[in-house]
Amino acid sequence: MKEVNQKEIGTLYIVATPIGNLEDMTLRAINILKEVDFIAAEDTRHTLKLLNHLEISKPLMSYHRHNEEVKTEILIKELKQGKQIALVSDAGTPGICDPGEEVIKKCIEEGIQVISIPGACAMINALICSGLDTKEFIFMGFLPLNKKNRKEKLNEIKTATKTTILYEAPHKLEATLNDLKEIIENRKIVLARELTKIHEEYIREDIDTLIEKAKGLKGEIVLIIEGSKKQEDNTLLALSLEEHYRYYKEKGWNKKDIIKQIAKDRNVNKNEIYQKFIHKD
Ligand code: SAM
Repeated sequence: MKEVNQKEIGTLYIVATPIGNLEDMTLRAINILKEVDFIAAEDTRHTLKLLNHLEISKPLMSYHRHNEEVKTEILIKELKQGKQIALVSDAGTPGICDPGEEVIKKCIEEGIQVISIPGACAMINALICSGLDTKEFIFMGFLPLNKKNRKEKLNEIKTATKTTILYEAPHKLEATLNDLKEIIENRKIVLARELTKIHEEYIREDIDTLIEKAKGLKGEIVLIIEGSKKQEDNTLLALSLEEHYRYYKEKGWNKKDIIKQIAKDRNVNKNEIYQKFIHKD
């Protein structure tokens, strides 16, 4: 049965593609790719390989991070002229750490229908087999490289009571695990690697063992971190610095220990806190 109808105004189909195993392409996704007028793809050469495998011949247009703005306008114009368009990324679900967000937002603004064609998504597959809580979770994508933004995200993970999911590239894995070691204490961490591929594996070890094993580890990686059991961390971070200080003071702690602990709670340098309380007794 034909799903794509020729209407006055087109529909944008967000089509998930495999994250490794080509058999994860759904029948519906294949049909949509066959039926649309053209496909907007993150990397046309990459998508061409998938289309060849599926024996689909269809015009391709590039739509990636560096041309998102210009290409969004072109896609909107084509959709308004009644073109049926599929959007795919290199792997998995478009819009999840992949281009797509811009054109989807614009379509909604312009009253153009957007339909998601479900399929593989690394973070969901990693989460379900992690063995950690799946009821509530936070997906953070890749940790920022900018020092300040990275610290902010690490602080969020430190206090997150929900399972946190991260994407990571193999060459940055060791640095990320070392940063996580500073904040997650004895919380569980699971590394999911090469999902749906021959070397698919889940490493469920403590962070020190994981850091050892991560040396030279290759492939595509998802990290899943158990939520913090400490509600107290959240409460403390919501306090002003003065209130935070008073909290420990009322417990009878001395100035040196308070400063050390505040710096640890907030994941900032001890001297930074010391400067704020230099004149305090
Ligand atoms: N849109 C994709 C999705 O739906 O999962 C994510 C694209 S993002 C640019 C690429 C990152 O996703 C990789 O660096 C890795 O963290 C994760 N990833 C993709 N495929 C994977 C796989 N087969 N196994 C583990 N992680 C994967």
